[in-house]
Amino acid sequence: MIIHLKAGASQDRAAELANKLQAFHVYDGTRHILVSGAGQKEVPVEMESEVDQFWVFDNDIQLASKKYRSDVREVTIGKVTIGGNQKKTLLIGGPCSVESEEQIRQSATLLTEMGLTSLRGGCYKPRTSPYSFQGLGLEGLKLLAKMRDEFGVSVVTEARDATHIHEIIEYSDVIQVGAKAMYDQGILRACAKTQKPVLIKRGFGTTLKEFVQAAEFVLSGGNNNVLLCERGLRTFETNTRFTLDLCGVAWLQEHTNLPIVLDPSHAMGLAFGVTPLAKACVAMGIDSLLIETHPNPAVAKSDAAQQLNHEQFKELYNRIQPVANAVGYQIV
Ligand code: PEP
Ligand code: MN
Repeated sequence: MIIHLKAGASQDRAAELANKLQAFHVYDGTRHILVSGAGQKEVPVEMESEVDQFWVFDNDIQLASKKYRSDVREVTIGKVTIGGNQKKTLLIGGPCSVESEEQIRQSATLLTEMGLTSLRGGCYKPRTSPYSFQGLGLEGLKLLAKMRDEFGVSVVTEARDATHIHEIIEYSDVIQVGAKAMYDQGILRACAKTQKPVLIKRGFGTTLKEFVQAAEFVLSGGNNNVLLCERGLRTFETNTRFTLDLCGVAWLQEHTNLPIVLDPSHAMGLAFGVTPLAKACVAMGIDSLLIETHPNPAVAKSDAAQQLNHEQFKELYNRIQPVANAVGYQIV
């Protein structure tokens, strides 16, 4: 249950009521909000006079639910606001991993020349094998921050565990929680304590309900800036790396109030399929598109097969542009 207390409720009183209901207490800048489990179906009689509005739910998709907020929440990434009625698709581009200053500067230069503003690059990589490249860590974050300062781009990078969050907050604009990390409560709770946008990727075996509940951890902890990213599920098919769940995206658009990001790069796993898939993604009217691009994919230290070279990335941009326009969106 979500309860909005009447304007003028004091912090202490809200905290007291939250405690009684064993509810989360969020202050959104204008009102105190109490959030308890979906099992709670009624406002206690003694609280009624202090309640402005309340919502009852069938399950624990609550703050993220369209039933609570029919509009899509706005999230600002660097200078760009997406979600709401913005009708903007933020194209986030860059390599899988930050590998060197020269490499990430080439990516930042490419984006800037194309008029794009959001650079991705992993520094703490959640690799399947301990023998693979694990990322440059703090050194990589500092390189991303250098690009942010030099080019004015916003930067998106992932947290592999909760101890990275404070560094990521300092050096980047968006905390990415990866497909393997999205069940990590330490990471989610740490993300909840900041106001940085949090891009949560859906695990490859994660139900939509589990996915949105990961977002609820962040929202109920007081951070409204959450984005949901579909990046492909594991199915019986082995010719492509994963299977992009566009049905799931349609469901999320119908039932949740969070901006949607699509990542065809990780879903397809093969560069040739990324642009056709990106066109299908953009046609759904989405808030952001995440694309891996590398100055020389053949030598990339992670996800080499799926990264577009810079020419292919420009080609993708040209191909998705008319699709976005056809559905009333603008690629930014
Ligand atoms: C990535 O974005 O490079 C990444 C590792 O993604 P995922 O968590 O979706 O596998
Ligand atoms: Mn990758």
